[in-house]
Amino acid sequence: MICLGIESTAHTFSCGIIDNKGKIYANVADAYKTEKGGINPTDAKLHHENVKNKVVEDALNSANLKLEDISLISFSQGPGLAPCLLVGMRKAKELAKKINVPLIPVNHCIAHLEIGKLLTKAKDPVLLYPSGANTQIIAYEGGKYRVFGETLDQGVGNFIDSFARYIGLGFPGGPKIEKLALQGKNYIELPYVVKGMDVSFSGILTNIKQKYDSGKCDVEDLAFSLQETVFAMLVEVSERAMAHCGKNELVLGGGVGCNKRLQEMCKIMCKERYAKFFVPPSEVLVDNGIQIAWLGLLQSNQATTDYDTIDIKPYERTDDVKVTWYRLFTV
Ligand code: AMP
Ligand code: MG
Repeated sequence: MICLGIESTAHTFSCGIIDNKGKIYANVADAYKTEKGGINPTDAKLHHENVKNKVVEDALNSANLKLEDISLISFSQGPGLAPCLLVGMRKAKELAKKINVPLIPVNHCIAHLEIGKLLTKAKDPVLLYPSGANTQIIAYEGGKYRVFGETLDQGVGNFIDSFARYIGLGFPGGPKIEKLALQGKNYIELPYVVKGMDVSFSGILTNIKQKYDSGKCDVEDLAFSLQETVFAMLVEVSERAMAHCGKNELVLGGGVGCNKRLQEMCKIMCKERYAKFFVPPSEVLVDNGIQIAWLGLLQSNQATTDYDTIDIKPYERTDDVKVTWYRLFTV
């Protein structure tokens, strides 16, 4: 069984193709970027409209497959920006109708977790999912992927991007801040905001902007201190989730998971508690069609050709989804 998955929750339009043995045939992505400023949903939607046909064609070509070889189509149903989600859903429906195969809508955050499990062979992990719009600590308990901790305001990626934008760097700002941080030497104290199991970034953003405006702090030191502070917050909450759930594996997912310093801090924490730490390949840490295709296969028994009953869910939460496919060994 081969599934073609379409991702379009935010900045990236991507198409991935994978089979039920976990063999990856293709993963093609085209991401909307800006020189200055953040994601404008209307511009991101236009970007997706412009690239969608080519991305799907390129994926089929690089897989050496025809559309007729596909047995299932999946797409990101949410959470995400509604205008962007609609482009993906419409393309997915168009393809499914064309070859008359079932369609399965899937949750983007859970897809990050499942592809991480597939590619790292983690069995029953806690997922630290720091991305642009989302920041959650997720683990399976009692029939659902439960959110054990999350941001109370913006995602950590959006927070980093906002600061990057403030100091004149374009989108995405995460990789640029990571580079700057390598040159930082002095830790400048920033608010450390962990509330119970949750984290919050908006106060830190105000504070770091004020420090930048004061002209008294080196921007490299600020970038360094930003990373040290917010990554420590994420690692603290992840560790507590692992202790609470009695799980001894941590998997990273989400674009901010590409950050080498965050990876290092997770690794140290896991080592200290004799746990295993897994970093999936970067191409699945960022938004990608493969994760959508893989979760489509896991949920294939819920797929339908009743296409009109399916819609986007821009605000769908990880713990809204009933997990019927959970097995400790998926492949
Ligand atoms: P996602 O929403 O999961 O696709 O992730 C996108 C987010 O990841 C954006 O906010 C990026 O700035 C952020 N990001 C990507 N690479 C890095 C990096 N190396 N360090 C920190 N953040 C990053
Ligand atoms: Mg994502």
